[in-house]
Amino acid sequence: MKIANKTVSAERLVRDALEKAKYFADYHIFTYLNEAVAIEKAREIDRKIANGEKVGRLAGVPYALKDNFLSPEGQTTASAHILEGFVSPITATAVQKLEEEGAIMIGRTNLDAFAHGSSTENSYFGPTLNAFDKERVAGGSSGGSAVAVALDIVEFATGTDTGGSIRQPASFNGIYGFKPTYGCISRYGVVAMASSTDCVGFFTKSPDDMDILMSITSGQDEKDMTTLPNYYDKGSEQNIKKIGIIKDFDNDVVNDEIREALKKKCDLLSSKGYEITEIEMPTLKYALAVYYIIVPAEVASNLSRYDGIRYGFRSDKSTSLEELYTNTRSEGFMPENKRRIMIGNFVLSSGFYDAYFLKAAKARTLIVEEYNKAFSQVDYILTPVSPNPAFKLGEKINDPIAMYLEDMMSVSLNLAGVPGLAIPAGTTKAGLPIGLQLVGPKCSDKKLIEFAKELI
Ligand code: GLN
Repeated sequence: MKIANKTVSAERLVRDALEKAKYFADYHIFTYLNEAVAIEKAREIDRKIANGEKVGRLAGVPYALKDNFLSPEGQTTASAHILEGFVSPITATAVQKLEEEGAIMIGRTNLDAFAHGSSTENSYFGPTLNAFDKERVAGGSSGGSAVAVALDIVEFATGTDTGGSIRQPASFNGIYGFKPTYGCISRYGVVAMASSTDCVGFFTKSPDDMDILMSITSGQDEKDMTTLPNYYDKGSEQNIKKIGIIKDFDNDVVNDEIREALKKKCDLLSSKGYEITEIEMPTLKYALAVYYIIVPAEVASNLSRYDGIRYGFRSDKSTSLEELYTNTRSEGFMPENKRRIMIGNFVLSSGFYDAYFLKAAKARTLIVEEYNKAFSQVDYILTPVSPNPAFKLGEKINDPIAMYLEDMMSVSLNLAGVPGLAIPAGTTKAGLPIGLQLVGPKCSDKKLIEFAKELI
């Protein structure tokens, strides 16, 4: 609005964002700054406005792009050595839609390599630091995007959420992060992690901004056969009465201050006339185990294309084709990527497929059914995003199981395909942000975002 009303120029906004990005360089937020292109695009928008031409809904708004979205602006690395130097010939559908409305990408953000992780420490380029405490993790995998918004460098940032990668870093940095219904936004042009749970979403400072971005980017895409016909803007009237609290999570694993924050928000909702109901979802305790079988299986398959021939980095130490594949993959992947490839191939191998993959796929169906049942009892569910606030850098990186446990409250949504919005819910006594997630049935995205305003 400010731009269209000429109270500030797009160029000024973009230059400010780039300056801030450089000022916070020690946080390792960006893998690439899009300086020259961003300024040129901003000038073009200013020219159009001066000439009275029509501009898009996001004209001149600077944003940050998680570095696993393909676009020809800069290399797309997914923060992995194996993709270094890869410049994409195509543009992701979500990026294209944002750009058509005039948004300007000022830089690409750091992530756990290939989005495998919960802290951004698995990045080839080093970890992103938490916006509230530089000794703590930003969360992950979309740590760079979350901190770019939390430190006010940009108005919004893109993310991907396969098992919590938008909601968890949003909650670690005190902002909004939305994982839509599976299939709401096209995954075309996004580096694949686990195709059956990957979702594109956003980080913003308000529910209203989230709504605009969702309305722009959602919808069917012929380039992604899993996209749903556009339902986003067809949200009907709110008729929300009952909010569910998951009984099975109310135990020792959740940090006391997070439990208190949940209680406070429940009290707030009660005072506004909503009914708070405890619901039982006993199958959710298996979600983490199911997730860490299904996701590595899909990861192993999706990462098999990186062979040193087609994309980015190639090891030059090889004397045969076989060696070239092995050396490129050995040098190019991070330890966590390799761990998932190994687990994935193991659970898919003929001797273990029935015992692991098939079992997990069946258990996933039970999780889907459990959510269906829950939403026949309540309208939305409110839970913590993660059992703890941001942990210290280095605290869990050498203990993969401890790291995986941090995802226990976020992964079930992806397995079920339902939407979840991480909302800021105050801070701990030590000043670390607390995040809660509002979960709704499939395709309730718009209403869910709208309802989040009740929690402010
Ligand atoms: N932390 C989860 C994992 O490591 C989720 C990652 C994601 O959503 N990309 O798999």
